[in-house]
Amino acid sequence: MDTRGFAATVAKANLTPFKFSRRELRPHDVAFDVAFSGICHSDIHQVNEDWGPSIFPMVPGHEIVGVVTAIGPDVTKFKVGERIGVGTFVDSCRSCEYCLAGNEQYCANGQTGTYNDYERDGATPTYGGYSNNFVVDENYAVHVSETLNFEGTAPLLCAGITLYSPLRHWGATTGKRVGIIGLGGLGHMGVKFSHALGAETTVFSHSPGKEGDALRLGAEHFVVSSDLDEMNALENSFDLIINTVSADIDLTPYVKLLKVDGALVLVGIPGKSFKLNAGLIVPKRRSIAGSNTGGMAELQEMMDFCADHNITSDVEVIASDYIGAAYERTIASDVKYRFVIDASTL
Ligand code: NAP
Ligand code: ZN
Ligand code: ZN
Repeated sequence: MDTRGFAATVAKANLTPFKFSRRELRPHDVAFDVAFSGICHSDIHQVNEDWGPSIFPMVPGHEIVGVVTAIGPDVTKFKVGERIGVGTFVDSCRSCEYCLAGNEQYCANGQTGTYNDYERDGATPTYGGYSNNFVVDENYAVHVSETLNFEGTAPLLCAGITLYSPLRHWGATTGKRVGIIGLGGLGHMGVKFSHALGAETTVFSHSPGKEGDALRLGAEHFVVSSDLDEMNALENSFDLIINTVSADIDLTPYVKLLKVDGALVLVGIPGKSFKLNAGLIVPKRRSIAGSNTGGMAELQEMMDFCADHNITSDVEVIASDYIGAAYERTIASDVKYRFVIDASTL
């Protein structure tokens, strides 16, 4: 299948038009026309090799929604004309204890990344959603509600599930106090979900101008992280704090905010090491944890939760010639709150 995409040909390069081919449909494959593709900060990290060597040319994009155009002979999950979504991985080993438990994102043999990776054959590069069409195994795609605004559903496939999964795992609910560090793509979805789950939600931001948006999105409180008086007053008061920041920040002030048994969960991946003093963690049985996207069943559960609660991402829809500017604005924390590429402009 002939495909038009946007690719980085080498590390740190501006993305430019790139033509390639998608595979012929296998029995369980679904082909779809991409409608919208979100820009995740992970795309920028990987183009810039913040996490180590990447595979080029790279077509980024792992927040993909579209409409099914063709199905393989054994497909039962999707019909032509239906909405479909693909997130951060497109395959896994399907046989390890984690895959069998529905935690494909922790596959012992490595999930297959939607881009910047190789298919299970170890040789065929995967190309992501900054493209006009896509082919995916039906088991690694989800249904997307027909009732939600389509462009706002794309970021659910990564930003959405990456916050939904830890909020559910660590029990965000009525009576719990939840903090979200960083009001960007991930953070704004965290606020919406935390609020919808009934938790009392606080945003910690280094951008004072985002207070109004934080409250509009569902937060009860907004704290500018450089305000030490306000930070000190909140010590020992949070059940769960999720760090979505893409840069390496000092975590110590946030550890101090946790109650006994409170957890600080890292989802932002700056690619640098953190330093923490055990004397802050041990006496209050605090946890420092991480969380990686969600499994396929949980991804569908989140999509259905969004349909039930009318939750989508706040997006700025852009044309393909704006990708470079969108990357710069995302790095500058100037995104409200996710850039989404209109695939018809590719
Ligand atoms: P984003 O939209 O750029 O948001 C990051 C936010 O972090 C910014 O809006 C900003 O919020 C804050 N921030 C940025 N630089 C900062 C600095 N120097 N000091 C303090 N705060 C700063 O990024 P995103 O797409 O949400 O992704 C965030 C991180 O999560 C990235 O590292 C990404 O790779 C990672 N990620 C992880 C997973 C996973 O599965 N674990 C999935 C997707 C993404 P304020 O202006 O409010 O301070
Ligand atoms: Zn992502
Ligand atoms: Zn596996």
